[in-house]
Amino acid sequence: MKWTNKGHQFDEIGKLFKNINRVYIYGAGMYGEKLYKNIKFINCIEAFVDGNIEKQESGYLGKKVISPEEFFKINPNGDHIVIVAASMGNTPVILKELLLSGYKECINCFAYNRFVEFYFPIFSLYRYDKLYFEEMTTSITQRCTLKCEKCSCLFPYVNDPKDYELQSLKEDMDCFFSKIDYLQRLSIIGGEPFLFSNLTEYVSYICENYLEKIGKIVIVSNGTIVPNKELAYVLKKNKIVVEISDYTKSLPFLNKKLEKLKSYLNQQGIEIIEIFHDQWVDFGFESVDNSDFTSKQLISLFKKCDIRCRGLKDKSLIMCMPSEHANVVLSKFKDDENYFDLLNECENIKKIILEYNMGYTNEGYLHMCKYCNGGVPINKHIIESAKQIKM
Ligand code: SF4
Ligand code: SF4
Repeated sequence: MKWTNKGHQFDEIGKLFKNINRVYIYGAGMYGEKLYKNIKFINCIEAFVDGNIEKQESGYLGKKVISPEEFFKINPNGDHIVIVAASMGNTPVILKELLLSGYKECINCFAYNRFVEFYFPIFSLYRYDKLYFEEMTTSITQRCTLKCEKCSCLFPYVNDPKDYELQSLKEDMDCFFSKIDYLQRLSIIGGEPFLFSNLTEYVSYICENYLEKIGKIVIVSNGTIVPNKELAYVLKKNKIVVEISDYTKSLPFLNKKLEKLKSYLNQQGIEIIEIFHDQWVDFGFESVDNSDFTSKQLISLFKKCDIRCRGLKDKSLIMCMPSEHANVVLSKFKDDENYFDLLNECENIKKIILEYNMGYTNEGYLHMCKYCNGGVPINKHIIESAKQIKM
């Protein structure tokens, strides 16, 4: 989107939340727990609403659980909002009941996904002055143990791949948390992050300074390197998760290494998430040329792409990490729209950062969008994952 009223894009929506003091989570199950973890830092949750009698008696996650009957006795026009955190099948049923009882959708009752992705960051900032980010990545090294042909970072094409400087990584993190009050997920990525020699120190620094501001820290590994004992200790102590990108379908020879890593992490008591990849999309930065696109076409492409891959670099927030990597590796140009200076102290700075994170820029797109097939939701250039470059 193109900024039309910088620092005030969400003022109208923000007004909806001015007098809200309480949040009810409708559903004390898996979705309710996830939502609770996302929003608990602003300390606004009044109770869960759920028909489960045991939970009504014992509470859930330290909060009261009230029955739907009790909930529907509350005046819908009070100082609260309700978020439906239920399965896809149950959500419309509950929403309908809420609407019939006088609630208004996207005013004081919300479905989980839409609330978390869109309304919650606005609610958090306008009502509690807390700037919330769902996700952020920190890229720590260009080095990798694999050479994937269509690596979204294009690192296999860097002549002399390097680790990033520890001090500047720390400073970027400091800049980020000087403005952002809570981050739900921090992903530490590479290349292959376990190749980064200063990983123990970097992770320790983040945890010592910012752990209470982060929901979950995840190291995204390709599963080929086993971390040393010192690092494993820090990961376990701080409940850091290792997310393994499993490429064994394309690269069966990785099986042994992957099993070795999993068994080691299990022994150390470190949580593992496995993500199976058999297909990727090709961003096409090396070959696409849409430089004849009009502004309108580029705005539309950027909006549909809806990239959420934010990152940090040179004390700036990066809107689209794949395009930033491509820009550097292919030496195209510095895309000013892709950088937001986190040292900026102008009026309404938190609101402007919120808007940037929600996809507002000066032009309404990034200049690199002219050289890109777009992100996953719109990209039709499907390719086999992790195909290795022939040397
Ligand atoms: S594993 Fe492949 S895709 Fe991931 S960083 Fe390494 S080369 Fe790139
Ligand atoms: S279209 Fe490409 S360059 Fe533009 S934001 Fe999406 S992924 Fe990034």
